[in-house]
Amino acid sequence: MTPNSFSDDAATLEQRPPIAPLRRRNLKDDVASHIREMVFAASLRPGMRVDQDEIAATLGISKLPVREALIVLEAEGLIVTYPSRGAFVAALSPEDFHDSYHAVGSISAIAAARAATKISDVQLVELRRLYEALEHDGDIDHSPSSIHHEFHRLVHQVGGSRRLNRVLRSLTNAIPERLHFHSRGSTMEVLAEHRELLEALEARDADRAAAATLSHFVNGAQHAVDLLAARGFWNEQTPPEGAAR
Ligand SMILES: [Zn+2]
Repeated sequence: MTPNSFSDDAATLEQRPPIAPLRRRNLKDDVASHIREMVFAASLRPGMRVDQDEIAATLGISKLPVREALIVLEAEGLIVTYPSRGAFVAALSPEDFHDSYHAVGSISAIAAARAATKISDVQLVELRRLYEALEHDGDIDHSPSSIHHEFHRLVHQVGGSRRLNRVLRSLTNAIPERLHFHSRGSTMEVLAEHRELLEALEARDADRAAAATLSHFVNGAQHAVDLLAARGFWNEQTPPEGAAR
């Protein structure tokens, strides 16, 4: 799953402003992704100050898109800012991650349930083709063109509404998706989760499709939390310097 798998018509409408603001928005999103990666790689840990000058210098950009990215990340709950002290990585707990994954899984389950009642035979053939490619590939990556991404995008395209996909897109940004599968001890386990969703859709069983989707995310949360633990993410969390608690 990646945020792009939730793209919808509304996003196309949003892309109509003139070129310059579009570039600006993409830059802001790129910077936000960069900072998320730093956090989920545990090179910026909870409670640590975000050095805006250093990020701007590293990326060879001005501070403005960095500030704009931090506003996005604050809305996601990943960053907290204090007017006189700057931006810090939020104090995060494993429960925060479980909640975020659960929230995404719950919304995604609504789309999967609807997909079970709407999916066409042709779309089912395509979904099975994607699943078999996933099975053959063995390694699930996260690029926007990846098979895994396409699998979920198809389900969301069939079952998601514009509103649902918009909510999913914003919720998904708050979870470390790249950890979702890299952290899995067993590829077979992850494959089985996708197979269960596929078979539920083939059986046009809405409840089973919803349950398969939710457990896919709930299991993903635990693995993400475990991997972050291995990276030392949860160690030595200190409240942001001088923060009022
Ligand atoms: Zn998946």
